[in-house]
Amino acid sequence: MSTHKREVVVTFWGVRGSTPCANKENMEYGGNTTCLEVDVPGTDDMLILDSGTGIRNLGNSVIDQPGQIRGRIFITHPHWDHIQGFPFFKPIYGSKNHFAIHMPDQGVEGGCKDILDGHLTKTFFPVTLDMIDANLEYITQPQERKSYEGYDIDFMMANHTVETAIYKVYINGKQIVFCPDNELIVGDNRQSAYQEELEEFLEGVDLLIHDGQYNRSSYEEKRGWGHSAWEDVVALGRKLDIKRLFITHHDPDSDDSQLSALDDHLQDKFGSVFKEIGLAKEGYQIFL
Ligand SMILES: [Zn+2]
Ligand SMILES: [Zn+2]
Repeated sequence: MSTHKREVVVTFWGVRGSTPCANKENMEYGGNTTCLEVDVPGTDDMLILDSGTGIRNLGNSVIDQPGQIRGRIFITHPHWDHIQGFPFFKPIYGSKNHFAIHMPDQGVEGGCKDILDGHLTKTFFPVTLDMIDANLEYITQPQERKSYEGYDIDFMMANHTVETAIYKVYINGKQIVFCPDNELIVGDNRQSAYQEELEEFLEGVDLLIHDGQYNRSSYEEKRGWGHSAWEDVVALGRKLDIKRLFITHHDPDSDDSQLSALDDHLQDKFGSVFKEIGLAKEGYQIFL
C-alpha cells in the first residue's frame, strides 16, 4: 500500500470518439479512443474507465513494475471505441495479475463476459478470452452505488444508442462523473424523467468529463446519433454548478487547429466561471 498519495489524479489516456485517428494533425490532442485512469489514494490497485485504444499506453506505463498488477476496468458500453484497446492492455497477460471488468447489462445472456467473448473470436482477432493469463473477473454491473477499494461507484443510464453508463466515482470526498457518450436533450423535449435524473446526478460535481463530439451546427445533422454539442454541455455545466468541466470524445475529423481554437474560446469565455474548463487531451492530468 502506498501512503504517499493524497490527491486524486485523473489522467486522460484516450479522448477520441468513434475510431482512432493517428494522423499527424491530431497528435496534440491525441488519436487514441476513450480511456481514463483515476489514481486512487491509499492503494496501488488501478481504477480505469473504458478500454479504448488509449488503454494500451496505460498498460505499457505499468507493465514493468514489480509484483502483482491489480485493478478494475469499468466499461461504459461495448461500442468498439470503448473496448478495442482491451486485448492490447499488457497486464492481462501476466498470470499473477488480477482485473475485474465491469459493464452495465446489455440484455445479452451471459452479460459482460459474453459480450467480450463475442468481440474476441478467431474470426476477428487471434486472441480469445481463454488465452488471457491474468485472473479476470467479469461483472455485469448493477445500477446502484457499490463500494470498492478506496472509492464508491454508481451510474445512471445515458441517452445513447445502447445501454450506456454515466459513471459517478465518489472518492476522497469528491465526485467525478465520466460520461463519454451521451446525447443531451435540447429544445422542446427537454422536460423528461431522463433530464431530471441527469440534472440531479450531475448537480455540483467536482469534475464532469462529458461527450462534446459536435458543435451546435454539426449536431443538427446528427440528432439521434447519441452525442452532444459542446455548447449544450457548457450550458448544463453552468446551470448545475459543475466545478471542473472537460469535454471529450472528440470527433476523429476535428483536428488540432480546430480543437485548440475551441479550447482557447472556452478559456476566454468560461475560464472564470469554472475552476477548470477545457478539452480533454491525451496525457493531461487533473488533480483533485
Ligand atoms: Zn463512443
Ligand atoms: Zn457509443
